[in-house]
Amino acid sequence: MATIFDNHGRPVTYARLAVTDRCNLRCYYCMPEEGIHYLPKKELLTFEEIERLVRVLAALGIRKIRLTGGEPFVRTDLMALIRKIRAIGGIEEIHLTTNGVLTEQHVPELKRLGIRSVNLSLDTLDRERFKIITRRDEFNRVWATLQALLAHEIPVKINAVVMENQNIADLLPMVALTKDQPVSVRFIEEMPFNGAGAHYPVLNWTYQRVLNHLRESYSNLEKIKDEPHGTSYNYRVPGHLGTVGVIAAFSRTFCGTCNRIRVTAQGQLKTCLYDNGVLDLKKEMRTGASDQNLRAALLAAFRQRPANGWEAEGRRGTNHPVNESMSTIGG
Ligand code: SAM
Ligand code: SF4
Repeated sequence: MATIFDNHGRPVTYARLAVTDRCNLRCYYCMPEEGIHYLPKKELLTFEEIERLVRVLAALGIRKIRLTGGEPFVRTDLMALIRKIRAIGGIEEIHLTTNGVLTEQHVPELKRLGIRSVNLSLDTLDRERFKIITRRDEFNRVWATLQALLAHEIPVKINAVVMENQNIADLLPMVALTKDQPVSVRFIEEMPFNGAGAHYPVLNWTYQRVLNHLRESYSNLEKIKDEPHGTSYNYRVPGHLGTVGVIAAFSRTFCGTCNRIRVTAQGQLKTCLYDNGVLDLKKEMRTGASDQNLRAALLAAFRQRPANGWEAEGRRGTNHPVNESMSTIGG
């Protein structure tokens, strides 16, 4: 399938699908302690709807799929969905983003299915700090998942959100982890998607500040190649097996090469992380849209993408500020 280019000349080849908005952790940067108001189950896309959507997207040139959430493994029988997506022609890569709490037991099958990589969210290497940040005492299970992924040689990226007064003490130990482990540790700027409403965090730790902090201890940190449409600026400590990345998620410096779209758990298409949903795919599918109708609606949306996250946020207007949880959006 030929590649579709958006109205800014960027290829659209990568879709991130949130398979649920539910989660078994309560990371404080993602949702309030009491959780978010979860969607009734019938409002989530069914597996059949997701599978259909992936087929239509594949016919539009989408080659890479990431399953995320919420926590994808709290969705019953996630592995069945992965098997179905794997059988869809044109989809060349499947990736997963998970908090790792329920993941370990599935690692052997993920390997067999050829999952390309797993992004594991882990903001700290300290069990007590993990408990404070995620409001759950699940560090050991996440650590076991990391070990299983490494043992099965599935490429792992550890995603750590950098937070003032929370995990700054973890930054250097996480870089140290890359010495003997072939992991990519990526430090992410905190974004305002915390589901708390009207809480727009001050960005204390920009990606430049994180880099400066790392360089105080690792003055030899060297720049290495970034992935063509990646979001991270990548580095390596000479001699280390793994790599270190910084992701300017709030500063939004990567929009110029963005090749991704998102589908939220309730089936809203987002052509930018910061937009408010531009097409109700669930409604289209449940009111009888043909595949051809869906393709046409998706194409129209791809051709109206905002140039960057600032434009997308601006288009929302003041009535719809950015404060939904990443768990609903699919981070
Ligand atoms: N539950 C899975 C997990 O945590 O990996 C998948 C969904 S989670 C929403 C995806 C990613 O979004 C995680 O790496 C998480 O750290 C990140 N995230 C959530 N809220 C964020 C925020 N306010 N700022 C930056 N990253 C955030
Ligand atoms: Fe759950 Fe992931 Fe959000 Fe943490 S970041 S609360 S694990 S969805």
